[in-house]
Amino acid sequence: MPRVCVIGSANVDYTVGLSRLPNPGETVSGGTLLVNLGGKGANQAVAARRLGGEVRMIGCVGDDPDGRRIVESLGAAGIDVSGLTTAPDAATGTALIMVDAQGRNQIAVAPGANHRLTVEMVAPHAGSIAWADVVACQLETPLPVVRWALGEARRQQVITILNPAPVQPLDAEILELVDYLTPNQHEAARLTGLSVDTLEDARAAAARLRTAGAGVALVTLGDRGVLACDGESVVHFPAFPVEAVDTTAAGDAFNGALAVGLAAGGSLEQAVPLANAAAALACTKRGAQDSLPQRAEVEAFLRSLGGRSR
Ligand code: ADP
Repeated sequence: MPRVCVIGSANVDYTVGLSRLPNPGETVSGGTLLVNLGGKGANQAVAARRLGGEVRMIGCVGDDPDGRRIVESLGAAGIDVSGLTTAPDAATGTALIMVDAQGRNQIAVAPGANHRLTVEMVAPHAGSIAWADVVACQLETPLPVVRWALGEARRQQVITILNPAPVQPLDAEILELVDYLTPNQHEAARLTGLSVDTLEDARAAAARLRTAGAGVALVTLGDRGVLACDGESVVHFPAFPVEAVDTTAAGDAFNGALAVGLAAGGSLEQAVPLANAAAALACTKRGAQDSLPQRAEVEAFLRSLGGRSR
C-alpha cells in the first residue's frame, strides 16, 4: 500500500449553509448547521486514506471533547494517530465556515492546539517520516515544524508535498525542500507577487516558483483544473465537469489524492488526473471530511467519463 505521512492541522469545522454570504456587519439568517471534522492536515490524511493509502498523521489537538473526537474519528478511519499529541493548555483548532447556494465559502479559523505543535513534539516521530513514501505538509502548523519535517523527509529520500495554505512568505531554504508545491491561484499570486488569473499567468507563476526552489509547481485553478510545471514541460490538466455545491476541501482532496498517486509510484500524468477527479467529487457534497470520496467512487467516476485521463 502507498504510504503517506501527513504533518498538519486537525480542526472541528462548524459549517452554516446560507442562501448568500453576509456582507461585513450583516446577518443572514435561515442557515443550516453541519458539524464536521476538518483542518487541512486531517482532511488530507482522510483523503489519502479513502483513496487506499496507508496513512500516519502527526499533529496536535486540545485536551477537550473535540480533540478526543478527532483522535477517535481518524483512528476509526484507519489512520495511525500515534503521532497526534494532546496540548494541555490550548483548545482544539476550530473553523467557522459559511457556504452559499453557489458553493462559495468564507472561512474563519482559530488554530488553537495546532499552533502549539513544536519540533520537540514531532521529532520522536521521525520514524514515521522515514517509513513514508510521501510526506505531505500544509501551513496550518508552525513553520519551524514544517521546515523540520520537509528536511527530515529530504534526508530520508522521501517525496515531499507542500500545500502552501494558508499562504505566507516562504524562503528558498523551505522551497528547496519541496518536491511538489501545490498553491491555488491566490496562493500562487501571493507567493510570486504576480497576478494569477489566466492560464498564461499560472504558467509564469509556476515557472517563478520553480526558480525559487520548488521541484514541481502545481497551480490549482478551481474549475479550470491544474497547471503543472516540472522544468521540462508545462501541462494543463483541465478539471472534470461536476455540479459543484461546496468547494470546501477541494484542495485537500486534491493534495491527499496526489500524495497517494505519487506514493504508489505514479507519474504526474497518472497522479494529477486522480487528484483532479477526487477534488471534483469533493465539490459535489457539502462539508469537509464528509465530502472526501472513496477510491471506488473516484474509479467509477473516471470510468463514467469514458476513460478520459484528463
Ligand atoms: P482550493 O480548494 O485550495 O482553493 P482550488 O479551488 O484550486 O483550490 O481547487 C483545487 C482543485 O479542486 C482544482 O484543481 C480542481 O481539480 C478541483 N476543483 C475545484 N473546483 C472545482 C469545480 N467547480 N469543478 C471541478 N473541479 C473543481
